[in-house]
Amino acid sequence: MPRPLSATIHTAALANNLAVARKHAPKSKIWAVVKANAYGHGLARAFPGLRATDGFGLLDLEEAAKLRELGWAGPILLLEGFFRPTDIDVIDRYSLTTAVHCDEQLRMLEMARLSKPVNIQLKMNSGMNRLGYTPERYRAAWERARACQGVGQITLMTHFSDADSERGIAYQLESFERGAEGIAGARSLANSAATLWHPAAHFDWVRPGIILYGASPSGVTADIAGIGLRPAMTLSSELIAVQSVDKGHTIGYGSTYTAGKQMKIGVVACGYADGYSRIAPEGTPVIVDGIRTKLVGRVSMDMLTVDLTPCPTAGVGSRVELWGANLPIDDVAQACGTIGYELMCAVAQRVPVRAE
Ligand SMILES: *Cc1c(COP(=O)(O)O)cnc(C)c1O
Repeated sequence: MPRPLSATIHTAALANNLAVARKHAPKSKIWAVVKANAYGHGLARAFPGLRATDGFGLLDLEEAAKLRELGWAGPILLLEGFFRPTDIDVIDRYSLTTAVHCDEQLRMLEMARLSKPVNIQLKMNSGMNRLGYTPERYRAAWERARACQGVGQITLMTHFSDADSERGIAYQLESFERGAEGIAGARSLANSAATLWHPAAHFDWVRPGIILYGASPSGVTADIAGIGLRPAMTLSSELIAVQSVDKGHTIGYGSTYTAGKQMKIGVVACGYADGYSRIAPEGTPVIVDGIRTKLVGRVSMDMLTVDLTPCPTAGVGSRVELWGANLPIDDVAQACGTIGYELMCAVAQRVPVRAE
């Protein structure tokens, strides 16, 4: 028997979440972002739930090829563009759309031998200062791209730093409009947060990622309450042992937790080698037998320990949900000081995953 730990991917939830994204940006086409192996869900497993999208966005050429093998004939966007001249052969072979964010990439396109022009998303750095041309240099880059024989359609693209937080997108929208003034072409600006919360940024294409997996762009569960998103992954396990611990005794490595009373502790088959964060502190929520309780003691490589005080009938074999349908991943992430994105991407190779 394998360990009782597994991840379940909910195909219907993915389809539901794509529909929620569409409802928020009804006039835009959607790049469903499936980078990082579909945010840890598995590209092939996520694909059936997301195939009603208009296109897929990702980073990795191998993942792009895999999507073609899965039968996807529609648009695929390389969100970071390409890195070497030989990458352009793959772009050509699989008819990929690529971001272009610097002169080195434009030069490679100018030198490339292609069977047909490549559609590009010309990226503007509108304030995030990661990838792209500044507004001042944008028109010149666009003109150079337009003059390049290997370039087909040019979409205008930028990315937001604060679409999920207080600063918002106004400062970047203003730069974008300045840099793109008078330039024709479709526009692609919005990530999940802007898809939900900034209709002014929707334009022709939106690029949601995290909301497709049912988590919050801000990392706060309450921020997506009531809009109908559903968790697309449930990480579940079982209790493999129960300990009765006397008052004053400690639990696990480093003795970080001391029982304040006589208590029952459940040992769960899930540890940091499975992708469950070792920095999860005491109090991180865990569901045992349908009842919300908390992590106590340090997460070890293959196991973690939970307080069974609220679930006195739990025993070996009791079902444990680490996150998922009944426990928002963002609640777990928040306890760890991170966001749902990081936890879902970290699920380890050794965890069996199945789609339902
Ligand atoms: C990852 C990514 C997205 C999706 O971001 P979410 O916050 O998950 O919606 C959109 N655009 C680009 C360029 C990205 O790299």
